Amino acid sequence: MTRFAYVNGRYLPQNEALIHIEDRGFQFADAIYEVWSVRSGDLLDADGHFGRLERSLAELRITNPKSRVGYRLVIAELLRRNRVRDGLVYLQISRGRARRDHAFPAADTRPTVVMTAKRLDPAAADRRADHGVAVITRPDERWARCDIKTVNLLPNVLAKQAALEAGAAEAWLVDGAGKVTEGSSTNAWILNADGVLVTRQADHAILHGITRSTIMNRAAALGYRVEERSFSVEEAQSAREAFMTSATTFVTSITSIDGRPVGNGAPGSVAIALRAAYLESL
Ligand code: PLP
Repeated sequence: MTRFAYVNGRYLPQNEALIHIEDRGFQFADAIYEVWSVRSGDLLDADGHFGRLERSLAELRITNPKSRVGYRLVIAELLRRNRVRDGLVYLQISRGRARRDHAFPAADTRPTVVMTAKRLDPAAADRRADHGVAVITRPDERWARCDIKTVNLLPNVLAKQAALEAGAAEAWLVDGAGKVTEGSSTNAWILNADGVLVTRQADHAILHGITRSTIMNRAAALGYRVEERSFSVEEAQSAREAFMTSATTFVTSITSIDGRPVGNGAPGSVAIALRAAYLESL
């Protein structure tokens, strides 16, 4: 089946969809992106992701080329053309195409908008969550504004590759003080010995995950205490449970960290309950 992409107003077969070699996203990573999960044809946490998209653009002073209604129309058409009921929508917006120069181009430079959609098997994701995953830790070598969702992801790519080569599914990034910031593409959580859910405060060191904030609300509604603070690798290794959140993994248990089992080494009941509550609420 031909996959279709949206590029600057046109729907094109994906292998014919092109952007210019002097696009600033390509040359400088001067671009932001957003990802929505799609279940049964609906976007999950749609407004949260639109809100973060608008914030990322504003932080980089890239003019937002479309309204939410405009994005939604394109997304609906892409889902239809790609026959996606369950999967992901990817949106990337760069500062546009201009002769290469670090400084911003002329104010009338048109941002480049690219969107793609792909199918995913929800049962496969559920099976993975049923088993839980291993993580390794890596030094956090990223820049100081990880709260902006830019395509500048090279340290994340290298960390994820290191995880896969070590037989793990994710890398938890560790700052200079020995505290976990987040995963290479997920937020990090533990359930500590006192039964308190802990996830790092939403500062500039982490992406403010949309799933993270929905889970914080769900957890509070279910009666769990949630603390937003940093935690060390040792605290995580001796926690009752650990898990990660993101639009693609929802809530997925972490069963070992650097080869040390978390809890009894099996997915914990709180993570399982939060995943169920997340999917039910949407
Ligand atoms: N942290 C990083 C570095 C990410 O790349 C992502 C998702 O792509 C997340 C956290 C989770 O964010 P969200 O829940 O909005 O998908």
